[in-house]
Amino acid sequence: MPEGDTIAYAARRMRPVLEGQVPDVIRTPQPRHAMDRWPERLAGRAVAQIRTHGKHLFLCFEGGLTLHSHLRMTGTWGVYAPGRRWGRSPRLAWLVLERGGHQVVQFNGPLLELVTESRTRFDRRLAGLGPDVLAAEFDFARFLARLRADDHTRGIGDALLDQRNVAGIGNIWKAEGCWEAAVDPWRPVSSVSDAEARAIIEGLRPRMLASAQTGRMAGEPRVFRRHGRPCARCGATILAGGQGDDNRTTFWCPGCQR
Ligand SMILES: [Zn+2]
Repeated sequence: MPEGDTIAYAARRMRPVLEGQVPDVIRTPQPRHAMDRWPERLAGRAVAQIRTHGKHLFLCFEGGLTLHSHLRMTGTWGVYAPGRRWGRSPRLAWLVLERGGHQVVQFNGPLLELVTESRTRFDRRLAGLGPDVLAAEFDFARFLARLRADDHTRGIGDALLDQRNVAGIGNIWKAEGCWEAAVDPWRPVSSVSDAEARAIIEGLRPRMLASAQTGRMAGEPRVFRRHGRPCARCGATILAGGQGDDNRTTFWCPGCQR
C-alpha cells in the first residue's frame, strides 16, 4: 500500500507539469466516471495547487473545484515526459491530465472524486485525519492528543497505522519507526511515554522526507520484511507477526525493541 512518502513524491513530480497551468486535455477513461462530465466542468481552469495530507492527494483547480485521490491498496500515479511509455496498461487509467506533451495519469483508482464543497467544509473533512507526518513542521501536540484519546490497550504499532492519530504512515514506516526508537510495536499505547511516541516519529520522519524527495527508501529497511535475519543493531533474529484488527504483519527485533 502506498504510504505518505509515495504520495508526496507523486505530487512533487506533478507540480512542474500542472501547477499554475490549464491542462490541455483532461480525460476520465474509467466507465464509472463517464457520466460525471469532469472534463467539461474543469475545462479552462488552471490547477492552482497540488496538496497532500498523509495518503490523500488534492488537485485544487481554480474556482473551488478539487480532485481528491486516495490510492488505497491498488492505485498508482504516473508522470510521463513527452513520448514516454506508460508504466501500466491504458485500460487501467482512471484519469489523464495532459500539459505541454507531459501526462499525469492515475491508474486503478480506487478513490477519485471531484469535490465541490467550500474550503471550510473541505478542511473539516481533513480535520478527521491526524497531523501529516510529512508536514514541514510536525504537530506533535496534536498527535499525542489523538494517541491519548485512542484505545489504550491497542498496540503502538497498530495505533500508528490509524490515520486519525497520524496521517501518512503505513506498514513499512510503522515497523521502521518502532525500530528506530527501539520501541516494541506490541506494547499497549498506555505504556508508551510521550517521549517514546515522539522518538518513533522523529526516527521515521527524516527517512520518509528523504523518500518523498527521491521516490525510494535510501538504503535497506532495518526490520521491514527482514524476519529471520539478524538485527543490524543487536544481532538478534528479527520476528514477524500479524497485528491489530486488520492483522497487518509487523516486523520487530525482540533483542533491542523494548
Ligand atoms: Zn535488535
